[in-house]
Amino acid sequence: MLIIEEPRLEKNNDKAIISVQFELENQRNELWYSFPEKFEKFLVTEQADAFLIGLLFLGLKTGNDIKLNAPISSKLYYSLRHYLIDALCLVNKNYKKIRIIPSSLSLTDLNVGNTAGTGLSCGIDSLSTFYDHNDEVAPFKIDYFTFFNVGSHGDHGGNNARLVFKDRYKNVEAFAKKVNREVLTVDSNLSEILEMKFQETYNLRTISCALLFQKLFKNYYYSSGTRFDHYGFNNNEIADLDMLIIPNLSTESTSFFVSALKYSRVERTELISNFPDTYNHLDVCTHPYSMNREEINCSKCYKCQRTMLTLDLLGKLDLYSKVFNVQKFRKNRNNYIGWLLSKKKKLTLDRELINFIEETGEINWQVEFFKVKNIIYRKKTKLFQSLFK
Ligand SMILES: [Zn+2]
Repeated sequence: MLIIEEPRLEKNNDKAIISVQFELENQRNELWYSFPEKFEKFLVTEQADAFLIGLLFLGLKTGNDIKLNAPISSKLYYSLRHYLIDALCLVNKNYKKIRIIPSSLSLTDLNVGNTAGTGLSCGIDSLSTFYDHNDEVAPFKIDYFTFFNVGSHGDHGGNNARLVFKDRYKNVEAFAKKVNREVLTVDSNLSEILEMKFQETYNLRTISCALLFQKLFKNYYYSSGTRFDHYGFNNNEIADLDMLIIPNLSTESTSFFVSALKYSRVERTELISNFPDTYNHLDVCTHPYSMNREEINCSKCYKCQRTMLTLDLLGKLDLYSKVFNVQKFRKNRNNYIGWLLSKKKKLTLDRELINFIEETGEINWQVEFFKVKNIIYRKKTKLFQSLFK
């Protein structure tokens, strides 16, 4: 049995810290979230929804029922029992079906903020979500950005992830200032507790933080990299299931949506490139950027290259010369396209980009040369690997 106690609030200078004690297989531990004190008035202390969702994977992974010495949302309880737990167990065969046992259920709508929020990384998806809601009014207008340290800055958390979190925040804060929005930052030890791959668990980690602020968010938009037609039960690409999981985490107070589902990655890139506020802030890179370079993005990793090529094909890359090393990319451009075409296992986003390359007639003899070169290189590497096994 995994037992979660009542949430407890503490203050430390201008920070507020909400935490719970929990016990799993006779071991006690503490899960905490810390955030700026000024958001305390929007914090839910009456219900333990956030902690339940944060620790749900721990229950599923270890096969322990979860008992809470605190109330939870009635709606969330219903969704967990009838949809969520079954769906998660279906996609991951290692999870076990568990029971949730709250002290009581609540039907109260706690929301007072009557506004909307979304996570902001300054990547293509989160910026698309923001601009896609440009003409919305309350409670659907995005008044707040969120920035959470729950695993996207390093799988298992710790000091390194916290440093990257703080570093990336500078860019997020600068963009938010430009578009006149506030950022709600939340730090947590959830990563250290879960010790699970972020890629398999990120959706519930993020929603766990958002659930702390049900009094603020009437609506919360979750940016997923997927489009409607990517939906599927696939253990390798768990994001394809977001459109089922995320809305089912809604409560009486907050509704969750997966946003920008109508756009392909190319369409999202095109959408954001119409807004000059993105030119100095687009951050798609998988590498932390404090490491001796001028631009936010490394211009070398697969996410950087993919985005730069898309922008180039759209005729927009030069607008982003402050955040990418455009010259370096152009020198290597044909090699990159060749490499993409030579890939044996193409991801959905690879295939989409290849279609776009074909449409724009970018495949010339140089690209074909690099394609063949990359195929030979891949075969050679494979042969060497099998020889020295
Ligand atoms: Zn990069």
